[in-house]
Order: sequence, then C-alpha cells, then structure tokens
Amino acid sequence: MAVLEKFQNFIDGNFVDPHSGEWFASENPYTQEDWAQIPRGSESDIFAAVDAAAKAFEAPEWGGVTAAMRGAMLNKLADCIAEKGEYLAAIETRDNGKLYSEMKAQLSYIPHIFRYYAGLADKVTGDVVPLDRPDGFAYTRKEPLGVVAAITPWNSPLLLATFKLAPALAAGNTVVLKPSEHASASTLEFAKVFSEAGFPNGVLNVVTGFGHEVGPALVGHDKVEKVAFTGGESGGCAVAQAAGARAKGVLLELGGKSPNIVFEDANLENALNGVIAGIFAASGQTCIAGSRLLVQQSIYEKFLEKLIAKASTARMGDPMKPDTQVGPVTTAAQFTKILECIETAKSEGALCSLGGAPGVGRFVQPTIFTDVTPNMRIAQEEVFGPVLAVIPFRDEEEALAIANNTDYGLAAGVWTENLSRAHRVEKRLKAGTVWVNTYRAFSVQLPFGGYKRSGLGRENGRAAIEEFMETKSVWINLAPKFPNPFIMQ
Ligand code: NAD
Repeated sequence: MAVLEKFQNFIDGNFVDPHSGEWFASENPYTQEDWAQIPRGSESDIFAAVDAAAKAFEAPEWGGVTAAMRGAMLNKLADCIAEKGEYLAAIETRDNGKLYSEMKAQLSYIPHIFRYYAGLADKVTGDVVPLDRPDGFAYTRKEPLGVVAAITPWNSPLLLATFKLAPALAAGNTVVLKPSEHASASTLEFAKVFSEAGFPNGVLNVVTGFGHEVGPALVGHDKVEKVAFTGGESGGCAVAQAAGARAKGVLLELGGKSPNIVFEDANLENALNGVIAGIFAASGQTCIAGSRLLVQQSIYEKFLEKLIAKASTARMGDPMKPDTQVGPVTTAAQFTKILECIETAKSEGALCSLGGAPGVGRFVQPTIFTDVTPNMRIAQEEVFGPVLAVIPFRDEEEALAIANNTDYGLAAGVWTENLSRAHRVEKRLKAGTVWVNTYRAFSVQLPFGGYKRSGLGRENGRAAIEEFMETKSVWINLAPKFPNPFIMQ
C-alpha cells in the first residue's frame, strides 16, 4: 500500500500533531485514491490556536509594529508564494480535482492580492470630524479587531483563504484558518510558505478537521472577534447563528444561482463563450456559476443549437492535462447530489438536451436543460455542478423578473451591444456583481459579495480591509472647565 503524505497543523509557528492523535484521508477526485493524511482537529487544537493568535495580537512583534511594517511582511509573503505557485497549484488539483490550468492561474494571482493589501495597510485612515460642539475636537481611529476566524470551502482553497487573510493581516489582526475537510492540503502547505516569510509566531494558525467538530469551537470562542466564512448556506447560517448569539461579526460568502442573460442584440459568439465559461468551467463547482441561462425568444433556437454543439465537444479528463476542459466532481457526496438534481429536473418536466448522465469515473457530463420554467427546482436551487437551466424570455421586463426571482444574488451576466440597455438592466439586477459582455472576470480591486441569501459583507477592494477593523471615536475636550455633571454633555 502506498505511504500517504502526512500533514500537521500549524499553531503558534510550529507544525504539530492533532491532540486527537487522529488523521483522516484526503482523496484525489480524479483517481479516487487517497493521497494524504490530514490532521483531525478537535476543540483542544482550536483552543491552542486561538490562544496563540490572541497572544500574537498583543505581542509587540505584531501588535506593536507599524502598518507599513505589516505591509512589508505581506510583500515578502507575496514573493514567497510566487516562488511556490505552481507547486501549490498542483496540490490543489490533486486535492479538489479542478483543472491545473485554473489553479495555476489562481495561484499566480494570489501574490497580487497580498501586494494590494500590503499597499493598503498604511493608507487606511480615520477622520478629523467637524463636531457641532465648539469645545470638542474629535477624530476617528481605525483599529484591528483581534483574532479573526477564517473558514473556507474546497473549491478554491487558497484563493478564498487569501480573500480573508490578506485584508485581515494588513489591518493588523491575527488569524485562525480552518480549511475544508475535502481539500486541506494546500492550506497546510501554504502554512509552510507563511512560516518562511518572517511573520511572528501565532499571527496565522491553521487547524484542519471536520466542520461540525471544530467549527463550533472556533466560531463560539470568546477570543474570536469576527468570523469570515465562505461555503454553503447551511454552514453559513449555522456560523451566523453561533456568532450572533455572542454578538460577534460575520462576513459570509455563500452560494448562488446566477443568471446569464443573452439579448437578441448581443455578440452571440462572445455570449456563447461566456455562457460556457459560466457553467462548465470548474465543472460548475463555483459559487458564481452562471447556472441559469436566460435567452431572448427571437434568438432562442439559434443560440441553443450553437450552445449544445459547442458544449458537446467539451473534453473531460485528467485535470492535470492542459487540454482537459472539464474535470471531475470533487467529492462523492457532491457527485450524488448533482445526479439527484438532474433526476429531479427530468421528473419536473425539463427537457434534457445534452448530457444528463455520469461520465467514466467521478465525472458528470456537461448537462443542458431546456424548456425550464422559472419555478422548477433546477431554476431555483444551487447544483454546484456542470448543469445549465435554460429559460426563454420575451423582453427586458420579463428577463429581469426571471433573473431576480431567486433567493440568491451573487452575480449576473448581461449580453447586449446596446449601451443603454446594459446600464438599464444592470441597475435593476439584484446581484453583488454584474458582468456586461463578460463572465467570471475577477480583480482584487473590485468588491465581491452577495445580495440576499448569497452572503453578507464584501471581500476584495478597499472596503474589505474595513471589514476587519473597528472604528474608535476619540473626543478631546477643549473647554477648561467641565460643565454640569448631571446632564448629557
Ligand atoms: P460547506 O459549507 O460544506 O463548508 C465550508 C466550510 O465550512 C468548510 O471548511 C467546513 O468544514 C466548514 N463548516 C461546515 N459546517 C460548519 C459549522 N457548523 N461551523 C463552522 N464551520 C463549518 O461548503 P463547501 O461544500 O465546502 O463549499 C461549497 C459551497 O460554498 C457552495 O454553496 C458554494 O456556492 C459556496 N462558495 C461560495 C463562494 C463565495 O464567495 N460566495 C465561493 C466558493 C464557494
């Protein structure tokens, strides 16, 4: 039997075994073979990690350094990640089965995210506030929160961890990071890179394990000030409830059922590529998947014909190979869920126009349902797989009504060559990101997050650093004498 690579947790600057003395296997979704042993964290590992983070927050080596010095450390970290990018990307592919070309592109972008927040660290300022009281002088100061918990899913482990880590560290917090039990290895490998970048011990701690075993201990810990969570709705709501019970903040990035809306005046070739990128890239295992396609009736048949022809040529296979276009499904549970969603769509009367069946291994064929009506489950529920629901519409009003008719509001795509229509439609879409004539485009400069049940708060952009800061108001009395002590001043 092959010897599996054995990982350790990262606590207070040291790589340590879990207190439980137990590990669990991590599987390569393409080969369906176990390849690594991941520490099975428990409450006591979380307590040790949070204590280390709390100590590091107060220590002069971190709590006492200037924002510019934190920026310099983050820049050094970016350099270290850049050197190891391809290595980390290969681990992600081995662990979650997503295309190596995509993970490599993500890893090559991660240093830019750290550099963006490194540059921002010493540019977050408070204000001098012009009070309406002549005897007062006041200013605000931005301060870090303390210990931040970061909880991430399996689909883009390091990218989504970076969305939290980079602003949280730039703001001066310390972090306990809990990656998904389905793809923890790259985060533990990242901890090794972090440990070489010169940060004081305890600034970042990584504890792996099952969500229900370590999650509540982390979220409920008194010393954790805020929880930044990316994942599914049930985990997100459990986190929000536990955090709310202790009046601590949450940042939630949850699921989606995003519409791609193709108008008759669109550049159809570009729209076709955008629709395919939206749903079949990453085998649909992305929160921003354009899983609902809304096509104007006048071009419905023509567009569908081209779409089905193009999607049917998608090459499934080894995610490490550069010419593979669709990789495997990451987990066995997700595989079962996708197939169940497909059966439900069929039973509700949607027409399966492409795919609709498993491939060889843990693959699901690119699947397209047509004749979908807006209230079918396939048009409402997140599948998190390569399954597209196509709905026709007559005009802008109907397109908007269908597009907004979901509990989610993460993203949307609008395809039109008409400038006024693009702005008109964008303005009425209830989604955190609207792409016009593109899809799945990303930049650290632009805030990212969800409306409605897709989340709470924003990652990326300038605003994200303030998600990890408190505002302190400071009032200086200029009057020589304290006035009447029995009334409010
Ligand atoms: P998940 O909710 O099952 O797990 C996410 C993380 O939460 C894991 O680390 C898990 O261990 C942990 N967790 C689970 N229950 C917990 C609890 N009670 N307390 C604390 N932690 C807990 O999600 P997943 O299956 O890993 O990821 C898929 C989901 O993530 C999809 O719904 C997808 O849309 C969403 N997602 C959202 C974004 C975004 O930015 N909006 C990005 C990627 C994925």
